[in-house]
This record gives sequence, C-alpha cells and structure tokens, in this order.
Amino acid sequence: MLRRTLMAASRSTGVRKAVETVPVSRRVVARFIAGTRTEDALHAARHLMAEGFAVSLDRLGENTRDRAGAEAARTACTDLLQALARTGLAARTEISVKLSALGQLLPRDGQRTALDNARAVCEAARAAGTTVTLDMEDHTTTDSTLAVARALREDFPDLGVVLQAALLRTEGDCRDLAGPGSRVRLCKGAYDEPASVAHRTRRETDLAYVRCLGILMAGRGYPMVATHDPRLIRITKTLALGHGRAPGAYEHQMLYGIRPEEQLRLAAAGETVRIYVPYGDDWYGYFMRRLAERPANLVFFLRALATR
Ligand code: FAD
Repeated sequence: MLRRTLMAASRSTGVRKAVETVPVSRRVVARFIAGTRTEDALHAARHLMAEGFAVSLDRLGENTRDRAGAEAARTACTDLLQALARTGLAARTEISVKLSALGQLLPRDGQRTALDNARAVCEAARAAGTTVTLDMEDHTTTDSTLAVARALREDFPDLGVVLQAALLRTEGDCRDLAGPGSRVRLCKGAYDEPASVAHRTRRETDLAYVRCLGILMAGRGYPMVATHDPRLIRITKTLALGHGRAPGAYEHQMLYGIRPEEQLRLAAAGETVRIYVPYGDDWYGYFMRRLAERPANLVFFLRALATR
C-alpha cells in the first residue's frame, strides 16, 4: 500500500514540486545520488574505481516530452562519454541510459527518435572505449525498448539491456537474450505493475528472479546480477559454480549508497562488482523509487525533515 502510494507520488507533478522545494531534500537525496554535475559523477567514478569497483553512470532524466529535451539528453550522454575518455575512466566505467529520456515517449516517432539518439550515444561510447546499457522502465515500454536494443545490437553487440524478474514475460525474454555476447542486467523491477503483467508478491518475484538467473547463467551471454538481496547474492554464487562460471564471467551490480559494506565484501572476495551511480538535477523519480523500495528510507527522509 505504502509502496503504491509512493509510486503514485513519483508520477505527481504537485508532490514533485513540494519535495523538490524542501531544502532538506538535497541532503537526504545525496545518500543515493552522487551529485548534480558531471564533475561529481567523475569524482564518484574515480573514487569507486580506486576501491576496486566497475561503474555505470546514469545521468538522471526520464519521460522527455519534446524533441529538444531528447536532443539535450543525447548531448549530455555524449559529453559524458567524451569526459570519460579524456579522464581515463572509460576502461571500467560504462553508462546507463533510459530511452524515455531520449524521446521514446514522444507522441510522434518516439521509438525512432529514441533509436537514433541511442545510436549516437553508442557510437560515442565506442569512440570512448566503453559500453552502454539500456535501463528498463515500466512495462508499457518493454516491447519498444527490446526492439531498440535488437536494432542496436546489430551494430553494437556489446550493448547491455535490463530485464525485470517481476514481469511475467521475462523468463521468455531471458531465453531470447541468453545467446553469445549478450549482456543482460537482471533486476527485480522498480515499477508498480498490474497483476495482468507482473508477479504481485515479493516471494513470486524472488522465485522468478532465480529462474531467470538460472537461464542467463546457463546461457552464453554475460549475466549482470543487479540485486542487493542477500539470499539472491548467495544463490548467484551457487548458480555460477554450477554453470562453471568464475567471477568475471558474470558480475554483481548494486546501486550507489545501498548496502555499501556488501559491495566492499563482494569486491574483496574477488567478485566483479559494478556500482550504478546516478547524478544530475532530475533526481525526483529515481529518489521516489528508492523510497518506495524501503519504508525505512521514508522514515529517514521524514526524520531529516523534522530535525532541520
Ligand atoms: P529488495 O528485496 O528490494 O532488497 C533487498 C535488500 O537490499 C533490502 O532488504 C535492503 O537491505 C536493500 N535495499 C534494497 N533497496 C533499497 C533501498 N532503496 N534503500 C535501502 N536499502 C535497500 N529497476 C528497473 O525497473 N529498471 C532498471 O533498469 C533497473 N536498473 C537497476 C540497476 C542496478 C545496478 C540495480 C542494483 C537495480 C536496478 N533496478 C532497476 C532496481 C531494481 O529493480 C530493484 O527495484 C532494486 O534493486 C531493489 O531490489 P533488490 O533486488 O535489491 O531487492
């Protein structure tokens, strides 16, 4: 119930204005977001790499409603990639991109616009010596995002794509995408989806996650295991051993600021661990999804409000 309310709030312009204007928000938000400027993102990436992590940078932004906004998002990504190349960070830092930021939801030619913009981003990533992963948004965008991914993978076979275990369709998508060279990030799914398309309980989603991960581990691609869930992390090790995959033949991924001790523990144990680092001004949707995942975060937010 609370989760549903927070997810509804994440789409409300009124609540957005209220949260963004509360001065304390930025302090609380800093727990999950590396900063607002490109330099903040580069600083975080440098620091994480020094600790032994790989990184995926996400310049926050989603649901762009006009062509100029989509072009601005594309330019921000290509500028970031050039900065990664200049600073020598591209070797272990890729970028994550939301197609809705690149124009996917435009009323006319949205998918084509997102594809063209994403292609420009992939070209810039190749020039910088790194890769791109397409984030996955709510289920109304899944077909379109996978269609764009298929088109891009013809020219950029190292393109990563995200699948969400919560969706009923995802075991099939895992089978389709488990082929040689494919990079698939498996997550539980951060959106409040209807029962017609998604598992509605945590237990069902967790069981689906294990089945999906089994398919990816048995396949010939590169599974990117995006979860903080201790049980799923243990199961990952078992599945990897069972399928003869050493660390480096798959990777763990976690979000900036979430379970940092576990991130360090896994890296110290020799696992490849990539930290997803969001940055930028457009933090509202991302922040609300993190609140919705964990009621304790809401308490933290409210306590900070009360003590300001
Ligand atoms: P949970 O069962 O939610 O959490 C397990 C434990 O992790 C919790 O008990 C808690 O200790 C800790 N934890 C989890 N979330 C939080 C939090 N917000 N604050 C504090 N502690 C927390 N979702 C998408 O829909 N599309 C994407 O493209 C996408 N990309 C992602 C990329 C990465 C690298 C990661 C790690 C996640 C991504 N997600 C994405 C989010 C994902 O779908 C989940 O919503 C999120 O990871 C929480 O699920 P969990 O697997 O960690 O399990």
